[in-house]
Amino acid sequence: MEREVIEFDVIFVGGGPANLSSAIHLTNLLRKHNEGIESGSGRGEKIEIEDKIAVLEKGAYFGAHNISGAVLIPDVLSELLPDHKQLGCPIDAEVNKESIYFLTSKGQIKVPFTPSFLNNHGNYLLSLSRFVGWLSKIAEQNKVMMLEGTSAVEMLYEGTGVIGVRTDDKRLQENGEYETPGCILNSKVVVLGEGSNGTLLKGLVEKLHLDQGKAPSVYELGVKEVYELKSNPLRKGECIHTLGYPFRKGLSGGGFIYCISETKVIIGLIAHLSSADPQLDPHRELQRYKQHPLITGIIKDGKPTHYGARTLPCGGYFSIPKLTSCGVMITGDSANLVDSQKLKGLHTAVKSGMLAAEVLFEAFMVNDFSENQLAKYEEKLKKSWIYSDLRKGRNFTPAVAMGIPFLGGPLLGFQMLTGGATPIGDLKTKPDYSTTEDMKHFYGSNSPDPLPKADDRIIVDKLTDVYLSGTAHDEKQKSHIELRDDAACKKCISDYKAPCTVFCPAAVYELEDGKIRVNFSNCLHCKTCDLKCPFRNIVWNLPEGGGGPRYTLQ
Ligand code: SF4
Repeated sequence: MEREVIEFDVIFVGGGPANLSSAIHLTNLLRKHNEGIESGSGRGEKIEIEDKIAVLEKGAYFGAHNISGAVLIPDVLSELLPDHKQLGCPIDAEVNKESIYFLTSKGQIKVPFTPSFLNNHGNYLLSLSRFVGWLSKIAEQNKVMMLEGTSAVEMLYEGTGVIGVRTDDKRLQENGEYETPGCILNSKVVVLGEGSNGTLLKGLVEKLHLDQGKAPSVYELGVKEVYELKSNPLRKGECIHTLGYPFRKGLSGGGFIYCISETKVIIGLIAHLSSADPQLDPHRELQRYKQHPLITGIIKDGKPTHYGARTLPCGGYFSIPKLTSCGVMITGDSANLVDSQKLKGLHTAVKSGMLAAEVLFEAFMVNDFSENQLAKYEEKLKKSWIYSDLRKGRNFTPAVAMGIPFLGGPLLGFQMLTGGATPIGDLKTKPDYSTTEDMKHFYGSNSPDPLPKADDRIIVDKLTDVYLSGTAHDEKQKSHIELRDDAACKKCISDYKAPCTVFCPAAVYELEDGKIRVNFSNCLHCKTCDLKCPFRNIVWNLPEGGGGPRYTLQ
């Protein structure tokens, strides 16, 4: 297939907060340098920005695939864009009231203090999709080429060095050819900021063993609905975190309620994918969560208007891969930089992007894009607060997974006193696919909890929620989801009762006549199936750019 070849200096793969911050910071530094040359105060040569730096985003628009809590610590944004408020940063509210509750099935106990790492006072509450849309406009004004609706589907190598990416072929025709073939984008450096469990990153890590000697990457699945309320008992800017119900044996994580306007609240739940439960279903748990009197009391006269789901890497400190190699750098969630103790990854994503930009700027100045030059990014990151913060939370996720308040509670207390240590040493994690038990071991003679009956108000079924996510894929393409081996599926159905048919937050997998049917068009790109299938039998490929969720307020 004939492909157009385009040359760049830097390509950012993934248009999320890490890479957009990086592109903005780099172009701001280059612009200042160029202004210095023009005014005669600077040294060196002007650096061309236009048509040399690009950001590729697989979503239909920048922000379409971005979803999070989302609480942002503003300091890092002030460092990137000191005048962000004047520039119209879409801040919904600043946190002005916060509380933590331990929930029993029918009641709640207010935790009398907020641990310092959960203190959110003054932090911004914002919609990540809108925030990313806003950052993309600034990058565009800085003359970055913004390629939305474009998937980078293949990393291009020369030996072990990365030399660029290939973009997606679009619209499969009846004769088996594509209407628009993808392009070859050559680049001095590719910056991978694909988000959680990135597809190109996975191939890169495997090929170059960037995770050698590191703990496995582990993940949580976050599911979230936005409610529009007629009367709102919360105050705009109020932030509630919960522990306890609906979490129980085999299910760990936490819940959150953020009030983002006079009429809108976010209800969300984060579940660890290390669960042993073969019938783990975070969407069902979100519905059960909303049946708790505390939550029902807030949303009882409201209706859900938006939905979304995504995984978050929670392995943190021990699972950060080697972050650079020849021609490539890794930023944000792709680099496992989420601070799960603080329940945040947005500030670390922005900061990692800025640090990568500073190293790239230096590379432009000395015209050296070698592996040694790029390696300075990892050195800078290790000296930054990102590393020291992640170190403090290094044992947080496995301690929470042990269950609160029981075994995990005292371990968390010990960590708070010692800056992250536990009396039993550092806690180990296993890959999420390996932790699922079969039905006999996990349930014995019991059965999984039934699904609460949908009423489209408090209890929403998955397909209604998929509709609220705006998800769609052009049907004129091959399914981006492959099931490797029928025999593995058969064994999984008989022994595990097909976990994919329940853990998928978008009902993509259905059991039909003893076989798994894949409704790929519903896919939210959360990648849970790629991580949690006990047989590793599901391959999640990148679909054509432009498909997937169309988040607007998530
Ligand atoms: Fe997530 Fe996989 Fe379901 Fe898509 S198919 S929504 S990636 S679990």
